[in-house]
Amino acid sequence: MDDDERNAFAAVQALEELGHDLIVARSGEEALRRLLTEQFALILLDLHMPGMDGYETAALIRSRKRTASTPIVFLTAIFRDEAHVFQAYASGAVDVVFKPVDPFILKSKVTVLVDLYLATEAMKRQSAYQQWLLDEHARVKAEKALTERALARTEARQEAILRSLPIVVHSRSIEPPFAPQFVSDAVEKITGFTASRFVDEPGFGTSRIHPDDLEMVVQKVSASAITGHYSVEFRWLCADGQYKVLLDEGVVAPSDDGEAREIFGVILDATDRRSLEEQLAQARKMDAVGQLTGGVAHDFNNLLTVVLGNIDIMARKPEDDERRARRIDAVRQAAERGRDLTKQLLAFSRRQHLSPVSLDVNALIEGFAPLIRQAIGEAVTLDLLLDDATLCAHADPTQLETALLNLAVNARDAMPEGGQLMIATRRDRDHVVIEVRDTGVGMSPEVLDRVFEPFFTTKEVGKGSGLGLSQVYGFVRQSDGEVQLHSTVGQGTTFCLRLPVSDEPDARAEPEAAPATVEGGRERILVVEDDPTVLTLTLDMLSGLGYQVVTATNANEALEVIQSDAPIDLLFSDVVMPGGVSGVSLARTARELRPGLRVLLTSGYVGEGAVLETKEFPLLDKPYETRLLSAKLRTLLDHPVTRSRRPRGSRPRQTSAAAE
Ligand code: ADP
Ligand code: MG
Repeated sequence: MDDDERNAFAAVQALEELGHDLIVARSGEEALRRLLTEQFALILLDLHMPGMDGYETAALIRSRKRTASTPIVFLTAIFRDEAHVFQAYASGAVDVVFKPVDPFILKSKVTVLVDLYLATEAMKRQSAYQQWLLDEHARVKAEKALTERALARTEARQEAILRSLPIVVHSRSIEPPFAPQFVSDAVEKITGFTASRFVDEPGFGTSRIHPDDLEMVVQKVSASAITGHYSVEFRWLCADGQYKVLLDEGVVAPSDDGEAREIFGVILDATDRRSLEEQLAQARKMDAVGQLTGGVAHDFNNLLTVVLGNIDIMARKPEDDERRARRIDAVRQAAERGRDLTKQLLAFSRRQHLSPVSLDVNALIEGFAPLIRQAIGEAVTLDLLLDDATLCAHADPTQLETALLNLAVNARDAMPEGGQLMIATRRDRDHVVIEVRDTGVGMSPEVLDRVFEPFFTTKEVGKGSGLGLSQVYGFVRQSDGEVQLHSTVGQGTTFCLRLPVSDEPDARAEPEAAPATVEGGRERILVVEDDPTVLTLTLDMLSGLGYQVVTATNANEALEVIQSDAPIDLLFSDVVMPGGVSGVSLARTARELRPGLRVLLTSGYVGEGAVLETKEFPLLDKPYETRLLSAKLRTLLDHPVTRSRRPRGSRPRQTSAAAE
């Protein structure tokens, strides 16, 4: 800084070759302005200047923080005395150079001072960097400590969860015997064996699976290699010698190299849940049984009251013929109601005697429609939407009609103000679907849940028996079909009966009207029946018809007769008898001994195993009346025995008696 241009020029010339940036200011004010914005290594300051002199400028430079340590060298031509030089140093100069300046001296002084400045700067940077390093180190250390603490907390929590939950976490091989790599400690609480036992002995886990479950477990877990997951429940032999039900679920985890995959899984003790489920199912069953017996008792007591009451009166005092006839009629009606009731119960328990034939569903519905129209009344319209193709199902026609009638009656009850009942048919893969839809009140979910239960009804006493849908359900299930049901409150209900498809419709024997006249005969009949009252009654019926009757109360007695040379034309036997030999096997033995022997079986209900067997021989359902029995006997006695099975559908259809 110099106000004299020539002096400044001389200094610039002297310093140029050093290669530094040289800035010239022409006054103290200008110098201070530049010092505000730029950084300088050295200030050469003329002491004698107009306005602000060198001392004042130096004092200001020193007083500012930014420039406090920037070295100042005074240049002076005038003040060479000691007092001035001293003042110059006092105001912050590091050196005083006298003018005219010797370029060489100026150059070396500037070089030294600039080097000093650069060294100082470098040192400052170095120490700042070191400080930064120190700070950074401290910060990282603090962060690390924090993360470590968080990690430790997480680990502790995970461990606590694993330890306290009744869940075993495991990882293991995907190949049998699925050797475990890791098993959490909870395994000890569940099984009584330590986790290390499982890891040390690769086959230990599978070795204690119940033998009946092992194959299924191996198969399901192995399948996870393809499906990616598995869920399996099995019995496992614990240390205390008891089996527990374990639920094991897992996923296949792809490993990093994509090769050796392993299973990650959890095992739960499902023993309690399983036994609760079993208890619940048992309780439900007992509930249903209770409801069933209650319902049966109620209905039977009513009809027995009628039977016993009338018989009592008849036994007490003689009445005229007309009254007697009325009473007998009442007793018969009550007994018939009892018969229908047992039929429905058998239908529900799927123990009824079905005579399935291959039937044309559309033809059956069309033929039955007039009866349905009559049942639903005038307020409800019936629409049939029958498939154009002939649909054949394998089912018992009488039972199917009964089911349709039960559904139609329910639909009518659901549409007290009238509405629409639609019956549609279609084929769906292996099933013929019969859809029965109404536009009635619909059902709440609670009702929907229970409609198929026997005796479940929402109707008032006397209006509903609660057996209609039980019959539908039992019949369809026993026919290897399914019932589906959709209902929306206020909109209506749809039932779908799905029955197995069959091929050609059988030539369906026209419903044989119950014979008007009762035809007897003189042939010899062997009657086998274990119930003495039924035996006596049958004996009376047959003798009354003119037949010659031999009786036996069990299969062995009957065999003795058959083995003798007593002449017999027909064996009429009960199916279910005490003593282990059923009517069916009796009939088979009898046929072997006497190939031409006619056989007629009778049964109140057919046990599940016997349902198929009875197709070998004609069957007459109990309870039977004289008219049906006599017709059946004549049909058999008037035709020779064929060794083939009874042709399907040859049984005369009964009138639909089981409808509500
Ligand atoms: P019931 O008709 O004698 O009551 P069901 O077994 O036929 O016995 O029906 C049981 C119950 O199911 C009925 O009481 C009724 O609440 C309900 N239900 C059956 N069919 C229908 C229907 N189409 N619409 C609404 N509710 C129905
Ligand atoms: Mg009903």
